[in-house]
Amino acid sequence: MENVKNLIVGMGFSGVTLANKIATELGQEVVIIDSKNHIGGNCYDYWDKNGICVHQYGTHIFHTNLKNVWDYVSTFTQWYPYMHEVKGQIDGQLVPIPFNLNSIHQVFPKSIADVLETKLIAKFGFNVKVPILELRKAGDKDLEFLADYVYEKIFLHYTLKQWGMKPEDLDPAVTGRVPVYISRDNRYFQDIYQGIPLNGYTAVIEKMLDNPLIKVKLNTKWSDIKGKVKYDRLFFTGPIDEFFEYELGELPYRSLKFDFLTYDKPYFQTNSVVNYPNNYNWTRIGEYKYFLDNKSEKTVVSYEYPINFEQGKNDRYYPIVKQENQDLYNRYLEKAKALKNVYFLGRLGDYKYYDMDKAIARALDLFEEVKKNG
Ligand code: UDP
Repeated sequence: MENVKNLIVGMGFSGVTLANKIATELGQEVVIIDSKNHIGGNCYDYWDKNGICVHQYGTHIFHTNLKNVWDYVSTFTQWYPYMHEVKGQIDGQLVPIPFNLNSIHQVFPKSIADVLETKLIAKFGFNVKVPILELRKAGDKDLEFLADYVYEKIFLHYTLKQWGMKPEDLDPAVTGRVPVYISRDNRYFQDIYQGIPLNGYTAVIEKMLDNPLIKVKLNTKWSDIKGKVKYDRLFFTGPIDEFFEYELGELPYRSLKFDFLTYDKPYFQTNSVVNYPNNYNWTRIGEYKYFLDNKSEKTVVSYEYPINFEQGKNDRYYPIVKQENQDLYNRYLEKAKALKNVYFLGRLGDYKYYDMDKAIARALDLFEEVKKNG
């Protein structure tokens, strides 16, 4: 039986970060596998025939306050200094999301907008983020009017489409990712570091894997090699419930379906992402040329449809963050702790709604732990 020093399952940022650190810093051999036919997991992008860098699994914007993560990724790429803005199609207008003071002035008559602005600043302060579920408890009739409006127009129907659940039935952190922002800042993220890798994400991952000690095996499922390979250490970034053969039950996930279209015109919409909380069955449309300012007479967009995850039919995209699922995950985690030299990480291994930077941070931390323990 083949013996592998370090076996890594999954070639998204989590697995690839570990592979890179183990090979370059410990000088050890790594075998890294992925069931997909390409590297990069759901961060995979490619250059299409029009010279547009398309994100195959939907729009990915790198943003972080973690200097160590930014510095680490910056050793593999230069950045296009892109700052993400999202507009929502609300009552026939394209308004800034997160809903902010500019959005208020766009959708309400001046007399109402002025009152709301004054009250918001008096109650919460300026430059403050207020999750919608908090704003609903404001205890003032004007602010409650605003909260009801934002809840109904921005969150309720989008969240029903995205998760098949109401905002209050999910962990508050989920809708808290996009709070109401008492500010004139139209950006989606306020992180110190934000950008798109100048040559795309796949090029970053390629560089991270570019080490003679790293052996890459695509089109290879964990179940293909399980029991056939011996390893000193296993880093598993796949679904933790699958690893344990679902013996405690299945962890639920949400999936996405994308319809990609190429339009024969230079631009389709005003910016990279437009959300449609209240219209159509899709949640948002992404237009890819905006990320790296690619110039072309054509433009590529994706219509994004949330769907249930079904084993063998589609991919896992999002863990569904709510208490009962966390409880099930915790029970799997107990089993995981009993295993020697098997580590779980990533969105699926940790069952956490990680952004790319947090997935990388987790892998870097785990590497330090492993290094310390020899
Ligand atoms: N959300 C919403 N309306 C919006 C944008 C976001 O209701 O216009 C809610 C929705 O529940 C969504 C969550 O906020 O799943 C987090 O949004 P984010 O844009 O962070 O989701 P991601 O880009 O990770 O899919």
